[in-house]
Amino acid sequence: MKRIVVLGGGYGGILTAKHLEKKFRKLDVKITLIDKNPYHTMLTELHEVAAGRVHEDSIKIYFEQVFAGRRIDFEMDEIHKIDFDNQKLISKNNEYPYDYLVIGTGCKPTFFGHDEYKEHVFTLWSLEDATLLHEHILQQFRNAAKEKDEEIRKQMLSFVVVGAGFTGVEMAGELAEYVPELCREYQVMREEVSIRLLDMAPRVLPTFPEKLSDNALKKLNKLKVECHTGSPCSNVTENSIQFGVDVIKSKTIIWTTGVEGSSLIDSMDDIEKKGRGRLVCNKYLQAEGKENVYVVGDNIFYIPEGEERPVPQMVENAENSSKLVAHNIIAEISEKDKKEYKPRFHGAIVSIGARKGLAQVGMPNMIVNIKNSFIALFIKHFINVVYFMQVLGWHKVWSYIKHEFFNTSNNRSMVGGLFSKKTPSIWTVPVRIWLGFMWFLQGLPKVINKISGGWDSYCTLNEFPATFENNGLVCSALGETMNFVNVSDMANNYDVPGTTFQNVKGFDKILTYINEFFAGLKPNVTTPGYGMSYNVLYVFDYYQQNFKWIGWLFAALEWMYHIFMNISEWFMNTIVTWVAPFFEFVLAIGELGVGILLILGLFTVLAASGSLILTIMVIVGSLFSYNGLFLSELFWYLVASIVLLNFGGNGHVLSLDYYVMPKVRGFLQKIPFIKKWYLYGEKVDS
Ligand SMILES: Cc1cc2nc3c(=O)[nH]c(=O)nc-3n(C[C@H](O)[C@H](O)[C@H](O)COP(=O)(O)OP(=O)(O)OC[C@H]3O[C@@H](n4cnc5c(N)ncnc54)[C@H](O)[C@@H]3O)c2cc1C
Repeated sequence: MKRIVVLGGGYGGILTAKHLEKKFRKLDVKITLIDKNPYHTMLTELHEVAAGRVHEDSIKIYFEQVFAGRRIDFEMDEIHKIDFDNQKLISKNNEYPYDYLVIGTGCKPTFFGHDEYKEHVFTLWSLEDATLLHEHILQQFRNAAKEKDEEIRKQMLSFVVVGAGFTGVEMAGELAEYVPELCREYQVMREEVSIRLLDMAPRVLPTFPEKLSDNALKKLNKLKVECHTGSPCSNVTENSIQFGVDVIKSKTIIWTTGVEGSSLIDSMDDIEKKGRGRLVCNKYLQAEGKENVYVVGDNIFYIPEGEERPVPQMVENAENSSKLVAHNIIAEISEKDKKEYKPRFHGAIVSIGARKGLAQVGMPNMIVNIKNSFIALFIKHFINVVYFMQVLGWHKVWSYIKHEFFNTSNNRSMVGGLFSKKTPSIWTVPVRIWLGFMWFLQGLPKVINKISGGWDSYCTLNEFPATFENNGLVCSALGETMNFVNVSDMANNYDVPGTTFQNVKGFDKILTYINEFFAGLKPNVTTPGYGMSYNVLYVFDYYQQNFKWIGWLFAALEWMYHIFMNISEWFMNTIVTWVAPFFEFVLAIGELGVGILLILGLFTVLAASGSLILTIMVIVGSLFSYNGLFLSELFWYLVASIVLLNFGGNGHVLSLDYYVMPKVRGFLQKIPFIKKWYLYGEKVDS
């Protein structure tokens, strides 16, 4: 059995393991992923946690859940050393032998040789970094709120972000949107708070074109971020930083100047490295000189053919490399040809706060610059959704949509607060009980009818909603409709002004039939409804007389029409005699069941979905039914069902779900199929 070990469950590692498992499901291969954390961290959203937009749980994805039902073993362990000669990974207490190794340990912030700064600054490259920084920001506001000394207060409320690249700009923008919220909460004046963004490069976002940089600068200034560029930072202490000749006093210095290889890579001296701790790779992404060691993500140092720079340390590179590495390992084991790494990159997107962002995206030969707008952010969300689909399916996508759009506070989302107003769920309880009661009233008489007279006793197809007032009326309309035994009977019984259905020939007949159909959509069929198609008939008549081929065409159509009519006749007969009563019986039971469940608050989401489906069926049914019965009351059912679809967990308020659902959840989570397809998970709800 071949042992493949993936070291690091970041963007590159997690996808490599999944790609490998998909291919190796039936082969004798053991795949193990090792990570020092029990969860994968969505690093691209760290600034959102640091600046209090989303909770830390929102950006964790537990490996246990990702690999559930898959042949991938997860080991939580921190590897200290890789013994390439003996092919094993070594941690404090364990050793992990491998035949093939994939290294994807990512990066850590770099201090460009000034490691003494480390203890005075905050970094942003792990979940711990983000939560620590968030807590520190809150603490500064708490302290400032009770500090009388203006100088000390100013220092507490001074925030400095060092490095105006992607991470720095995202952090500064996010913080700027957070500050007004904090000022309100801690009764601090906004004017007392300062956010500075520093960089030795001549402009913010130096890798973007100048126009985009200027645009970013404008947006940052609008958010009251002071941007200072063109001078180096030096002399960082606990409470200050020197920028050029100026000394800025601050208790919060956030260091986002760039990255270097992870600590493990740092410690390796028996492997070739370049470009701040990246592993030199050949075109198959094998580490130079080590055939059974592959590299993914930020750890790769590889310059693709025709390029001048190594591949970027970005998520897209991690995704691309994971596919290639999985393919090449499979190829090697099954003795097939390996592929060369020829990645295509589609640009970069930077958010400035929760509502807008900038982007440079497109194909290598057609790059589009998107200035500060919601479009860039929309693309970013879309890319994230695609990534989550690969990692944890719709379950994660839904949780992402919830924490980015529905559960946001202070309008901090791309659509402001449009989707996110929270209402206490208790207010939906009367709606639930009332809707349940109404369904109960619909279902009960029908079920009693069926039980007393036999399941096929009484045709109730259109009898909805059977309100107290219209019950009799509906039933008589219904009786009329159901007296038509088949389609041609229906047609023959229906008088078209000036003619009858039988007298109309060929294509005209179809038109008349269509006409009938549309007329049927209206509750009260009146003559004006026929106006339009009589004009059409006239036009066709004219052509039929003047062009022979139109006659042939009509003949062909008539032939098809007859076939169709025969089939539909058979179909209608079957429906009327057997399918319809059976269907109604099921429907009646469904109505009663949905009613009872909603009243009790048991399986509320399912019952609300049932209510929605039943309502839609009845609406569609009434549109297509011959008598065109449609009552606006149906919309109340529709709207109430949507409200009860449990956005925000209202099913658990004053209901049996409160007691039952935790047990159901526990049971479902044990079913392998459910685990594997991420249908019902835990720990990702936010
Ligand atoms: C704040 C921020 C914002 C970003 N925004 C973007 C963006 O918008 N777009 C973009 O493309 N990129 C962005 N990036 C960069 C992107 O996150 C990285 O390129 C990507 O994470 C690289 O993936 P990876 O798999 O190489 O490493 P990582 O995702 O860093 O994963 C490395 C994994 O290895 C594990 N590990 C490390 N050492 C060990 C060890 N010794 N033993 C066991 N496990 C270990 C870690 O726990 C981690 O799970 C951003 C990064 C940050 C920090």
